[in-house]
Amino acid sequence: ESDEIDKAQSAQEEPDTIFDKIIRKEIPANIIYEDDQALAFRDVNPVAPTHFLVIPKERKGLTGLRRAVKSHTNILGHLLLIASQVAIQEKLDEGYRVIINDGKHGGQSVYHLHLHVIGGKQLSWPPG
Ligand code: ADP
Repeated sequence: ESDEIDKAQSAQEEPDTIFDKIIRKEIPANIIYEDDQALAFRDVNPVAPTHFLVIPKERKGLTGLRRAVKSHTNILGHLLLIASQVAIQEKLDEGYRVIINDGKHGGQSVYHLHLHVIGGKQLSWPPG
């Protein structure tokens, strides 16, 4: 039954985002990590000395975190693991922050799930 719900999620017709063009290498991006499931690249408008995004190569209905269902468990875990590994690669040994913006109140602008990883300076809390 939950499989049916998952299928309905991924069957939704949703337009490509700019991230699909980056995944297909149709537009340039500064890619710092890539595997069969995930891509990490530098944010074009960095908010900290280090700012990269980690995205799933196949969106599978994950326009945002709110669409997460059981079948996304593995990719969701993988994205966090890659965030950690690329943070090490980027020498963020003083720490960093991982953020997922969802929807209007979250300030989401690209509807393809992505983790922001920011660091390289002392960050303040709370966010606005
Ligand atoms: P916001 O734009 O408010 O940060 P999101 O959480 O949806 O909302 O983040 C989208 C991020 O994608 C932004 O930080 C933006 O700078 C980044 N971005 C948009 N287009 C590109 C691109 N072509 N290459 C790299 N980063 C991009």
